[in-house]
Amino acid sequence: MNENFLVLLGLGNTAKAEGKSLVGQIDAILPQTQCTQCDFDGCKPYAEAIATGEAEINQCPPGGQDGVDALAELLGREALPLNEAHGETKPRRIAVVDEKVCIGCTLCIQACPVDAFVGSSKVMTQVIAEECTGCDLCLPVCPVDCIDMVESKPIEQIVQSDNSQRIEALNKRQVQERAIRDNSRSRFEFHLSRIERNKRERDDLLKSKMITLKEKMAKDKALKEKINAALERVKKSKEKNETK
Ligand code: SF4
Ligand code: SF4
Ligand code: SF4
Repeated sequence: MNENFLVLLGLGNTAKAEGKSLVGQIDAILPQTQCTQCDFDGCKPYAEAIATGEAEINQCPPGGQDGVDALAELLGREALPLNEAHGETKPRRIAVVDEKVCIGCTLCIQACPVDAFVGSSKVMTQVIAEECTGCDLCLPVCPVDCIDMVESKPIEQIVQSDNSQRIEALNKRQVQERAIRDNSRSRFEFHLSRIERNKRERDDLLKSKMITLKEKMAKDKALKEKINAALERVKKSKEKNETK
């Protein structure tokens, strides 16, 4: 049996043995690239859609045919061919920025689902290679096309040997794959919570500015009324003096 398939199925089964929900078991098999090629906003939303029957199991190109087969096995469903309408399976890749061309616009920082960029406005940006999932989402937003995708170091292939060594190698590979997925998943979750927090802070700031503005307008109105009343008193007293 294909080793990659066994590793992926192992990830799902381990999640099951750990008492994870069905969504958690499906999510454990998904690559955590967070590329949205499945037409969902990340791996977890796709896992939720599979669990509820809203989506088919063959919509994840980074997971490839092995991923589809592992999902089919885990869920006791019929294996389907990978749906190529969602894209093709590519080798693991990471983004690299051409520092000489980068203008520090930060658009890639905003697009990255796992916060793999370092940099700030007008400062040249760099990618933390270990954190990049190869999702490609930074490519279309770069106004000067200075991001390239390069193949990353593949995970050590399992050398065919006797059965016990093969099992040991499969377990080792599963541990490596799980570490990569867990890291990308938690970075994506942190990214989402950071966006949510920033939005909340912006909303709170806007709300407090509106309150200050309203208070100022109310004060201005009260002051204006006071001035008008004073002017009216002056006018009346002037008229009274004139009639004497
Ligand atoms: S890797 Fe991409 S296509 Fe696959 S489930 Fe995650 S977001 Fe969807
Ligand atoms: S650096 Fe680019 S390719 Fe890598 S994870 Fe971030 S958006 Fe995706
Ligand atoms: S989008 Fe391109 S130009 Fe802008 S900061 Fe990122 S790499 Fe640099």
